[in-house]
Amino acid sequence: MPERVVVVGAGMAGVQTAVALREQGFTGTVTLIGAEPHQPYDRPPLSKAVLLGTAEGSAFDVDFEALGIELRLGCEALGVRPGEHLLDTSAGPVPYDALVLATGAEPIRLPGAEGVPGVHLLRTLDDAERLRPVLARQHDIVVVGAGWIGAEFATAAREAGCAVTVVEAADRPLAGALPAEVAAPMTAWYADAGAVLRTHARVERVEPGEPGAVILDDGSRLPAGAVVVGIGARPATAWLAGSGIELGAYGEVLADERLRTSAPDVYAVGDCASFPSGRYGERLLVHHWDNALQGPRTVATNIVGDAPATYDPVPYFWSEQFGRFVQYAGHHTSADTTLWRGDPSGPAWTVCWLRDDRLVALLAVGRPRDLAQGRRLIEAGTVMDPRLLTDPARPLKAATA
Ligand SMILES: Cc1cc2nc3c(=O)[nH]c(=O)nc-3n(C[C@H](O)[C@H](O)[C@H](O)COP(=O)(O)OP(=O)(O)OC[C@H]3O[C@@H](n4cnc5c(N)ncnc54)[C@H](O)[C@@H]3O)c2cc1C
Repeated sequence: MPERVVVVGAGMAGVQTAVALREQGFTGTVTLIGAEPHQPYDRPPLSKAVLLGTAEGSAFDVDFEALGIELRLGCEALGVRPGEHLLDTSAGPVPYDALVLATGAEPIRLPGAEGVPGVHLLRTLDDAERLRPVLARQHDIVVVGAGWIGAEFATAAREAGCAVTVVEAADRPLAGALPAEVAAPMTAWYADAGAVLRTHARVERVEPGEPGAVILDDGSRLPAGAVVVGIGARPATAWLAGSGIELGAYGEVLADERLRTSAPDVYAVGDCASFPSGRYGERLLVHHWDNALQGPRTVATNIVGDAPATYDPVPYFWSEQFGRFVQYAGHHTSADTTLWRGDPSGPAWTVCWLRDDRLVALLAVGRPRDLAQGRRLIEAGTVMDPRLLTDPARPLKAATA
């Protein structure tokens, strides 16, 4: 067993790895290195309660000292020398026996808008704190991107009384995540909440000013007291260049089924890494909270335990937008069969995806019981009866073949 474990990245995945090591009886040193100066915190509240000021912060309720976890905050990892078992940081080299990469993801910036005053991202506590007074001033806000973050930010901004226009280059919200027929009913959620959604809208440039403006490629000019960019995130792995650690097409660390990287004694977990899913037969890059909770347990087991542990989760995430609780479990492709439970124009409905009559994924809007039951059915690979499944009055667990 290694004596010194170093974890890079003090977000959800890094913190959970450090905690899981202790839970699993690891008695060596655990050093948790994080670039941000803040006490480690959770991100989902940043687009919800923290943004609206109904929660002060979202620091993890973990007593690092009592657990014997050494926190090095405000310290940036700059590179890895796997051959020498050394991590280079802004505070000098740190030796390790096992290293865990958990540097998460960083938001994609809007080309040409970098450094323009009034243009914001929403990834960190500092971002949320900068945005809080923007909401309080009830500016006209333009949100670029109708993805998960854009929808959640628009929800909070409407709640705060701001005029909100969301511009989206695709023909619908969540185009990268959901098929057109499933995203279609979500379009109406924007208007219901009093937000304007403009699809097929590409940003040409952002003009600074008081207020500034967003200029679209069709020439329209949207006045903007503030612009919030939510056009996706990519793994924060640029610092690994030259380390020899293998990266994938999206810049993510390529982990194996035990979450090991291509370098000896180096693991990767959370938003920064993809893993081969035995369950779905393809490599998955998951940018959601539950993955940063579950993956660390596998990493800790593989560092501490004698028996190897394989990571093969049913991915799960939730989003709170426009007064709705949206949950998704599993993974589907366009080849899977889509079945509806309930009326998508109503407040609560579910979409299921079947492969060979087995449930592989579901999206539940305001139907948490469907989600909980569906998740278990996916895990078990239960064969479903498609006819029973489409009856929303019947519990999902009673729709088996
Ligand atoms: C605003 C917001 C709302 C969200 N809401 C939801 C939600 O409702 N549901 C859901 O399922 N998911 C949600 N997510 C996604 C979820 O928060 C992430 O999947 C999760 O935070 C990933 O955890 P992580 O530890 O892998 O990465 P991160 O949380 O990104 O943490 C990585 C940490 O590593 C640090 N780091 C990066 N590079 C270095 C370096 N070189 N040296 C040292 N430290 C470094 C970073 O500063 C960061 O603190 C949300 C994300 C955001 C931003």
